[in-house]
Amino acid sequence: MMELPGLVPVVKGNGYGFGVHRLAGGAGRLGADVIAVGSVAEAKVALREFDGDVVVMMPFFNADAAAAEIMEDSRVIVTVAHLPELARLAEGPAYPRVLVEVRTSMQRHGITLDDLPKVAGFLDRVDFAGWTIHLPMPAGDSNLEEATHIGTAARMAAKAPLWFSHVSVDDHNRLREIFGPDVRLRRGTDLWLGDPGALAVTATVLDVHKVVRGQRVGYHRKSVPANGWVVVVSGGTANGIGLEAPSTNRSMRDRAKTMALGMLDAAGRALSPFEVAGEKRAFVEPPHMQSSLVFLPANATPPAIGDEVPVTVRNTIATFDEIVYV
Ligand SMILES: *Cc1c(COP(=O)(O)O)cnc(C)c1O
Repeated sequence: MMELPGLVPVVKGNGYGFGVHRLAGGAGRLGADVIAVGSVAEAKVALREFDGDVVVMMPFFNADAAAAEIMEDSRVIVTVAHLPELARLAEGPAYPRVLVEVRTSMQRHGITLDDLPKVAGFLDRVDFAGWTIHLPMPAGDSNLEEATHIGTAARMAAKAPLWFSHVSVDDHNRLREIFGPDVRLRRGTDLWLGDPGALAVTATVLDVHKVVRGQRVGYHRKSVPANGWVVVVSGGTANGIGLEAPSTNRSMRDRAKTMALGMLDAAGRALSPFEVAGEKRAFVEPPHMQSSLVFLPANATPPAIGDEVPVTVRNTIATFDEIVYV
């Protein structure tokens, strides 16, 4: 927080693998005054774990009863991305804290630049917290041009803080020179997952069975391709482990594509994200709910029950059984 004035930690979805509750608490310990969540449901969790303000980034709709209820909390700031919704809020009895989203080249949400002058008429009847500007990932290494263009248009419509997403730290610093200190930067991935070396994901070996070529194993009675071992590892669909089995590939062309992507082993079986005895091993069959079967050929040294083996997952879709700080 000290090194990056204006930083707003983003805490949403599966909490980048750590859970919204854990990151919300962590953001407080980092000294954040405000955090950003995706949804109303996440805001409820965040409000319990974090003492400061909570921005809900998904657009606000008056018809959403849960959103209308949470906006009455004095620590909540809602994001409004549609003029009729802003008009309804301005007409209503509440005086909610509101960020107004401006459309960018990303074309996700937001009021267009042409409509910005219409926003000003509503702003005295809400507690206007600023403009939110969510840019696409920088094409080169900079989004400064679009950020400056949209920031300038927004500031002409109403002088208020500018909240950017997906600008680099360099661009953020430049934007603070251009627009002053009321510039905020929302960041999630770089903040929580920026140092891959800080994280190690492992699966536990739950069982190891010697098998012979042609032996049928698994839910689907698949025959194993050679002598070796079936290794049962923890981690399945409930943890975000998912992969198409090669038999579901419709054509040889699909199969070649999958192979080119490095997802099949030499014999054409789907490569699992589990590394056993030094290599990624093939699935015997698609992952089960909480465990997976992988095949280890006879020339490899089998692991022991209880061993931890490396597993490659995307943190933003993974659900971990346990998170350990070392
Ligand atoms: C998810 C999100 C972010 C954070 O994105 P990262 O790429 O994880 O840093 C920022 N702003 C908005 C509006 C988002 O939805």
